[in-house]
Amino acid sequence: MQAERNLKGTHPVAIKGATLIDGTGAEPIPDSCIVIESGKVSAVGPLSDTDIPAGAEILDARGMFALPGLIDSHLHLAGMATDNFLYEGMVVPAGVKLLRAAVHARKLLEAGFTTVKDCGGINAVHLRRAISEGSIDGPEIIPAGYPLSQTFGHGDSHFQPIEFVDARTSRVGESLLCDGREECIKAARYAFREGAMFIKVMASGGVLSERDRPEHWQFSVDELRAIVDVAGSVGSFVTAHCQSTQGMHNSIDAGVKTVDHAFFPDEWVIDQGIKRGIIFVPTLSIMMRINEGGVAAGFPEWGVRKCSESTPDVIKNIRKLHDAGCILAAGTDFAGSKLTEMGTNALELELLVRLCGYSPSDALVAATKNAAAACGLSESKGTLEAGKDADLVIVARNPLKDISALQDLENIKLVAKKGVVKVNRGVKLGI
Ligand SMILES: [Zn+2]
Repeated sequence: MQAERNLKGTHPVAIKGATLIDGTGAEPIPDSCIVIESGKVSAVGPLSDTDIPAGAEILDARGMFALPGLIDSHLHLAGMATDNFLYEGMVVPAGVKLLRAAVHARKLLEAGFTTVKDCGGINAVHLRRAISEGSIDGPEIIPAGYPLSQTFGHGDSHFQPIEFVDARTSRVGESLLCDGREECIKAARYAFREGAMFIKVMASGGVLSERDRPEHWQFSVDELRAIVDVAGSVGSFVTAHCQSTQGMHNSIDAGVKTVDHAFFPDEWVIDQGIKRGIIFVPTLSIMMRINEGGVAAGFPEWGVRKCSESTPDVIKNIRKLHDAGCILAAGTDFAGSKLTEMGTNALELELLVRLCGYSPSDALVAATKNAAAACGLSESKGTLEAGKDADLVIVARNPLKDISALQDLENIKLVAKKGVVKVNRGVKLGI
């Protein structure tokens, strides 16, 4: 733990000798040096060109690879332990789920994830606070808090009695049901009041909502515009759960920042996505896990069926978005259950490479630079450049040769968040 004592931000630190993969997609720099001062990267580049401040602690990373801290730009720290979401939602007390989620947050950090965007759920709001004040350890969390859904929408768990759904009127509900401009405005303001850092809106049907489908659209453009206006008024943005073509038209028209899942984009979506800089967040990981193990894990039959029906088109369309030059960010939609275990989130990078024609470098950009953009954090996170937060990971094996190496915890040798070493599996001090 000596490295931890010396890497708490009190001394400058220089990480020497690693091959630098900076998250921008640029060519790696062999034999690099990263200087950290006051939690930020103060200098980075070839070792021969980098001045190391007097009194700096030196970390010996020769033979290893340094990359920005990984970012999952779509997950839920829901504290699930099983995949029976009806049981988890209705029977397990909220406090138990929050405690589990705290353990899941630590697991994310152990796996190299230094920032995560929680796309719906109140746990994330509480965890963010506990992590910020130093009571527990975890990644930087950007929470949506309560998501907005129309009545009979993706967030309206219609297998439950309606009085159990809305967070404002029940003890178990986690959605804000709202219909029409006025209710949408009020719900968005309420979400911010309860700790949201951005608004999550359900703009289409989905896989795990029983009586709608991914092809359906939800909320009118007018309702979505009202929500985008509220977010804009507090300097924030909107993320849309959006799978249908029409839902994407409505969401992009209304001015959302990110379109998550993005199952069925058409030419207009691709064209406008590029023109307006929309960030698309495919979530292949949850789809693959449901396809492979959903039935055995206890997912409802209708969810598994909708998932497997959509998968071939989704893979084709994600490849199409990427090939066309759209911005894509990596997200898993994991919730911490057996099938969607936190800490295995680097699966998404492997799937982008294996299924969608990504180069390993592009997959890394999706999980760093682009994922930071999806969180609204381009200024401070996502790349290892001077002035940014010193969130970084040092790995033993080259992820550009084998992207799946990022799923191997033993390969993740060191994780630092804002210059503080949170995980060290054998990186030594001093050269
Ligand atoms: Zn989600």
